Amino acid sequence: MRFESVPMPAGVEARPRDIRGYPVPAITPWEGDTPQFALTDYERSAQCAGKRLCSVCNRAMPRGPVWRVVGAAESAAIGEALAAGRPYRNLAPTLEGPGHRACMLYASMVCPYLARPNARRGLSAEQPDELTSHVVRGTRRGAMGAVVGFAEYEYAITGSQVMFRFLDVVEFLPHDTADEHLEELRAELGRTAE
Ligand SMILES: [Zn+2]
Repeated sequence: MRFESVPMPAGVEARPRDIRGYPVPAITPWEGDTPQFALTDYERSAQCAGKRLCSVCNRAMPRGPVWRVVGAAESAAIGEALAAGRPYRNLAPTLEGPGHRACMLYASMVCPYLARPNARRGLSAEQPDELTSHVVRGTRRGAMGAVVGFAEYEYAITGSQVMFRFLDVVEFLPHDTADEHLEELRAELGRTAE
């Protein structure tokens, strides 16, 4: 979706913009005046991890659940685990940091890189869709991915990367189209504005 048509959380509204006016996430590195949307900044990501800052808006996240956007394969794996009553644990660490619920709902609709995490990050943790599609028949699939709430996150800062792991799914919002979370985002912004 064009970002102008999606309401912005206050923290996103306050972000620096690129030349198109597109808000630049907290963990995105800059090269001069140009944000490198396809990359993750090591220092910024380490700060977010250690200080419990949202990777999108850079503001503090309260204690309690955190959210992230997952791609199609991980969405399918989570949906399958939930449908089977099994706990899901993301054992493969990811470079994607956590964020506020509103920020991740926003990012799921606006950020083309978050919709395709591996195109952006170059990790190979996700499997092709064909491998998991047979086990999620009958459940909502989340063909494009999902916004997922987790009870908590862990992180590890290595010499060159900040890796995250997410524990205990507390909310699962799969999406099959880019604009699917618009109503949920409006409702969330209404709640947090109160
Ligand atoms: Zn945020």
